[in-house]
Amino acid sequence: TKQQYVRTKPHLNIGTMGHVDHGKTTLTAAITKVLAEQEPGGANHYVAFDRIDRAPEEVERGITITIAHVEYETPTRHYAHVDMPGHADYVKNMITGAAQLDGAVLVVSAQDGAMPQTREHVVLARRIGVEHVVVALNKADLAEDEDLLDLVELEVRELLTRYGFDGERVPVVRVSGLRALEGDPVWTQRVLDLLAAVDEHVPIPPRRLDLPFLMPIENVLTITGRGTVVTGAVERGTLEVGDAVEVIGLGPAVSTVATGLETFGKPMARAEAGDNAAVLLRGVKRGEVRRGQVVCLPGSVRPHTRFRADVHVLSAAEGGRRTPFAANYRPQFHFRTSDVVGVVTLDEGVTQVRPGAAASLTVELGQPVAMSPGLGFAMREGRLTVAAGTVREVLD
Ligand code: GDP
Ligand code: MG
Repeated sequence: TKQQYVRTKPHLNIGTMGHVDHGKTTLTAAITKVLAEQEPGGANHYVAFDRIDRAPEEVERGITITIAHVEYETPTRHYAHVDMPGHADYVKNMITGAAQLDGAVLVVSAQDGAMPQTREHVVLARRIGVEHVVVALNKADLAEDEDLLDLVELEVRELLTRYGFDGERVPVVRVSGLRALEGDPVWTQRVLDLLAAVDEHVPIPPRRLDLPFLMPIENVLTITGRGTVVTGAVERGTLEVGDAVEVIGLGPAVSTVATGLETFGKPMARAEAGDNAAVLLRGVKRGEVRRGQVVCLPGSVRPHTRFRADVHVLSAAEGGRRTPFAANYRPQFHFRTSDVVGVVTLDEGVTQVRPGAAASLTVELGQPVAMSPGLGFAMREGRLTVAAGTVREVLD
């Protein structure tokens, strides 16, 4: 029998962000290796680079997974750490809240300094409410001298300040993910310093445990002999084995019972807001549920197709469009893990909306999505993020 998940330390969700090739995945692998070697036979296990870039479900089921989760513990906390494989996934998962980050490690290569995606991620983190950032000044092993590192650090602090973070006080730790992965003791210590900075700087967020249970479905898996399992990050509330649930949005609702709960492969009696959970659904066939739906307390939230929204249209510098959009614009709408086409109606007298502007819109979605006022979403066109928005009023 499998080892039970024991909730001994507060659980937080963090992630690496930053420009492609600055070393996010290498650093993630290094963190797991350094922690595993701190206490052989302990709670932490080394997760190699190629297992982070490609989650196991992908191999088994041919499902495209856009978030790779890695689990580890520091002396005071339990972390789920997400490493986004690509830039487009990052933007989508951040805005829709699919990643639900309590804090982030901004990885900046000391060789290249802040690059366009560094800025874009900082802007997005701020916009979606990721308030706590720790900087990993990576590839510090390649820096010829300290002056260069000082310069890049200054530049990153200025960038953070410009976009609303406390750039002066954000911890900046000079690391080398690659050297730590190779076992170099000096760089191993720097990874521990980085983790200490995360422990210290990212506070434990308030969890919405008293609200009705809701978990967006990230993936659907079939476990031979057991049935259909849905996975995701619990957004709010709690769920116990035996509780009735409803799966809603995108198609017909499914009423069932949660007959099993796991986190990181370990069974648990109760899932809570903030947890990454796998929920076994009684008598549900694989084709009846899918990514983009939500599992919730029956009757606690309804799917809707029309709503009023407030949006911030991203400027070109933030990774958005270069040109305005007009009425009848049809981008994709991303709510949590769902991706649905919708048509935009502008307010009377408004003919177009410019990049960088704020606007209120009426949207009609091609398929119903579970929503209530306050829910955040992203508008995207191809691989471009057009706007970040909030549902103001549900219409029908
Ligand atoms: P990601 O795209 O941000 O996930 O970056 P990767 O982790 O895939 O790393 C990109 C490249 O940079 C790889 O060739 C790594 O080996 C290299 N790299 C990552 N971290 C370091 C480091 O600390 N020092 C050096 N010298 N190279 C690194
Ligand atoms: Mg990577």
